[in-house]
Amino acid sequence: MHDPNCLFCKIIAGQIPSKKVYEDEGIFAFHDIHPWAPVHFLMLPKLHLPSMAQVTMEHAGLLGRMLALAPQLALEQGCNPYPAGGFRVMVNTGRDGGQEVHHLHIHVIGGPRPWLKG
Ligand code: 5GP
Ligand code: ZN
Repeated sequence: MHDPNCLFCKIIAGQIPSKKVYEDEGIFAFHDIHPWAPVHFLMLPKLHLPSMAQVTMEHAGLLGRMLALAPQLALEQGCNPYPAGGFRVMVNTGRDGGQEVHHLHIHVIGGPRPWLKG
């Protein structure tokens, strides 16, 4: 599903430019415009889900694939190997969760410290 009013649906559709990290039939990833750290990209399902709060068992395969892809993309984007390196995976959900853009996304944040935040 594509929501014509959703910023991230527009990025996935190429209507708003982004620095793409990865794309397949169900997943899209691009660099965050305000990175917290040397590596900071977002992984999204192409399906418009507003947040983690709407996730059900129906989405288990899709979310599992996203999480399973994160380590490979993190290394490709410049995160150092575990355990000295590593990365942070974050999913802000709802207002109390600090979510600003209401299309489910996984932040992958890493690279050598210091970081700007976090
Ligand atoms: P949230 O707070 O919803 O978890 O995170 C939204 C993230 O999207 C923020 O880190 C913000 O910097 C990023 N962001 C917002 N608008 C844009 C945009 O137009 N392009 C890109 N690349 N990132 C964006
Ligand atoms: Zn969307």
